[in-house]
Amino acid sequence: MSGCIFCSIVRGELDAYVVYRGHGIMVFLDKFPISKGHLLVIPEKHYESAHDSPARVSATVFAAAAALARIYRRNLGAPGVRIVTNSGRRAGQEVFHFHVHVIPYWGDGSRGRHVLSEEEAREVLEMLEPYKGAIGEYLDEAGLSASD
Ligand code: 5GP
Ligand code: ZN
Repeated sequence: MSGCIFCSIVRGELDAYVVYRGHGIMVFLDKFPISKGHLLVIPEKHYESAHDSPARVSATVFAAAAALARIYRRNLGAPGVRIVTNSGRRAGQEVFHFHVHVIPYWGDGSRGRHVLSEEEAREVLEMLEPYKGAIGEYLDEAGLSASD
């Protein structure tokens, strides 16, 4: 959809630090993270939010978020992870391309919203690198894909 920043990221017109792309979804770093490792999971295809996304697409996006929560908890030792989606302006949605937030907590007093620096982005990508394959494996195990 023209004028949608997440569609621009999908098309490669706008830069993002991408963790995973496949199964019709993308995972990239939030530009204004609430905590270190705050990620967004989106379908490549444009839907406004969870309420108008087909069941298969929603299932794939939420399953990928669960796979990421598993990576943060089991592999990276995060004591907590929040998975959230906002549907509608009244619920705090600001970008109207369906996305699920994956927000790890590290038990170190979260920094709160800040602008993502290149250094922080590199650290997060490096931290996730060994586990990226697990996202696709998790979706395969569940037989899920958001692509047509
Ligand atoms: P919402 O409030 O719609 O659920 O969340 C939108 C999210 O997108 C926010 O957490 C915000 O920081 C993030 N965001 C806004 N613009 C950009 C951008 O250009 N690139 C990236 N990577 N994230 C963005
Ligand atoms: Zn879009």
